[in-house]
Amino acid sequence: MTRRVLIAGNWKMNLLRAEGEALAAALAAKFTANGSADMLVCPPATLIAPVAAMLEGSMIAVGGQDCHMKESGAHTGDVAAAMIGDLGGSHVIVGHSERRADHGETDATVKAKAEAALAAGLIPIVCVGETEAERDAGKAEAVVETQIRGSLPEGATETGVVIAYEPVWAIGTGRTPTTDDIAAMHDHMRTVAASMLGGAGELRLLYGGSVKPGNAAEILGLADVDGALVGGASLKAEDFLAIAAAAG
Ligand code: PEP
Repeated sequence: MTRRVLIAGNWKMNLLRAEGEALAAALAAKFTANGSADMLVCPPATLIAPVAAMLEGSMIAVGGQDCHMKESGAHTGDVAAAMIGDLGGSHVIVGHSERRADHGETDATVKAKAEAALAAGLIPIVCVGETEAERDAGKAEAVVETQIRGSLPEGATETGVVIAYEPVWAIGTGRTPTTDDIAAMHDHMRTVAASMLGGAGELRLLYGGSVKPGNAAEILGLADVDGALVGGASLKAEDFLAIAAAAG
């Protein structure tokens, strides 16, 4: 059993076309598969096509930050999973805490979106994570377990889905859980996922929340951490490349 590390960048609602192309070009120029890590960038929907064009022939994959649960139809402003695939995307983030908070997405919504992604041939990156109040109340593992049980798509396989543990209070704050807490959560997540998928030895579990070049090696060195979902630091080529390099 070998799980390749996945270093995924979530550009969120940042960058205009020229900036996104420049960032993609800088990554493509420097990232060479180091044998163990895969790299993925998830630009805003408007930049998937130009970024995919810049990354053609590189070792870097491109994905979306969200998709609609329906295949097509009257959903103004939304993007279908197949549209992301059509532009060259291979992955899509679903259930990011910013979408759960800003758009009222529930576990059921996230599950439906992840199922739409699978139907379109994309790999969904399903995000879960507790709030600070939930962690302080000693409920972090229970909250994350409920989210996984409610959000993992029907028909998921160990290699066809990725789960990202992103404590809400660690996103964009510069704070991270202790490595013991991350390790314990990832161990629990793998147990929960295994009970749903019939095994989870091949399933990739990412950690996200204030991953930087300075803490990446320590976090990525944990046994059940198979990569990182990176927000802020993915907007600087140098930092994102350093995080990938820390994967060994
Ligand atoms: C994220 O939003 O997925 C994230 C992990 O952000 P940051 O790295 O900036 O904390």
